[in-house]
Amino acid sequence: MNSEVLYRELSELDKKHFLHPTTSIKQQQENGPDFIFTHGKGVRLFDLKGRSAIDGLSSLWNVNIGHGREEMARTAYEQMKTLAYSSCFATYSHEPAIRLAAKLADIAPGNLSAVFFTSGGSESNDTAYKLARHYWILKGEPERKKIISRTKSYHGVALGATSATGLKPFRDFTGSLAPDFCYVDHFSPADLRNKIEEEGPETVAAFIAEPVQGAGGLHLGPEGYFKEIRSICDEYGILLITDEVITAFGRTGSYFGIDHYSVEPDMMCFAKGITSGYAQLGGVMLTEELHRVFIDRSEGTLLHGYTYSGHPMACTVALKNLEIVESEGLIENARKMGEEMLKGFRSIEAESGIAANARALGLMGALEFVKNKETNERFQSPLAPKVVAEAAKRGLICRSVVFDQQDTLVFAPPLIMSREEMSELHSILEDAVKAVE
Ligand code: PLP
Repeated sequence: MNSEVLYRELSELDKKHFLHPTTSIKQQQENGPDFIFTHGKGVRLFDLKGRSAIDGLSSLWNVNIGHGREEMARTAYEQMKTLAYSSCFATYSHEPAIRLAAKLADIAPGNLSAVFFTSGGSESNDTAYKLARHYWILKGEPERKKIISRTKSYHGVALGATSATGLKPFRDFTGSLAPDFCYVDHFSPADLRNKIEEEGPETVAAFIAEPVQGAGGLHLGPEGYFKEIRSICDEYGILLITDEVITAFGRTGSYFGIDHYSVEPDMMCFAKGITSGYAQLGGVMLTEELHRVFIDRSEGTLLHGYTYSGHPMACTVALKNLEIVESEGLIENARKMGEEMLKGFRSIEAESGIAANARALGLMGALEFVKNKETNERFQSPLAPKVVAEAAKRGLICRSVVFDQQDTLVFAPPLIMSREEMSELHSILEDAVKAVE
């Protein structure tokens, strides 16, 4: 079948039968899918119409080692052939999950030494809230139930994860789902302290924060922020959970995002970059101290577990992925290419009358659009989605964030990015910005 005919057939089926995640249904029904991807190689994706594009967001901040890695496919094949699935409930276990747990304990920040596996970031966040609350039950403080999170945060779409998400439209989509969640300003330690006092410290289980806020518009914690919130959590005996779903495994130019701030969390959620999208896997890590409380005080069964907690193929793929990240020096490359990316954004900012507030940490970066650079006044109708469309026409995929009156483009290209590919990204972006200026 010729590809134009195949595109039309798939597009009709897509509109009729496929409810896309996080998508404007109206737009889907009007236009159908723009890209129907067929394959990926390195930093690029290819589609049915014969176009190729640089994957400037590593798809969903996750394809860190790049597309089309045959060694990943071979690893998955070998594991599936040997043991595609077996459970880790009760007295059952298997080597891939055990080895991955040990590897994570080895590389994780601070004293994080035990892991609970999930299938993704949302499940990891729900798990963290449940483990935090169970921890307080075991410690004899069952009234500690509340989870405090930050404005502009994104923690996923499971019930707890949605409830913790600071971006209000995600919560308004259904109305309130779970009690005992509250929010503080994403940059203000003082606001955290006030909220804890207002709610009563004896009712607060945990505070959760992303080391770099990604989906909420790429916000870096101000100088000293994480040290200060760590000390506030310690003062009130509140657990600090870091959501490293995007930032872990090299994305920011260090193994974990929190490494930049020399702070040790009590729990850490991860997903995405653990397998670079080659399998569905996430998890929550706990410190040795928390794990010890579970070991010493838990009497019944840990009544939380997914069918796919510790999926053997996903765990084997994760181990291979980490081996690639380490052996190819991708964390160091993320740091170097991140500096390069920021330099290019700054140069676009300097030349353009509308691009502003360029920022990056490793290979997570953003550029905003403003009507007036002095006052940061925004355009009535955001420009970032228009730049995304212009960039896509020219072969670059990136994402806009327009929540909370933001007008921002976010980037997270694969950690394998070369200097030449980065320069191509900049030149397409520059043209796309000029096209809307
Ligand atoms: N936490 C953060 C910081 C995320 O960015 C995301 C997804 O983008 C999630 C959690 C949810 O992960 P998932 O989509 O795998 O459920």
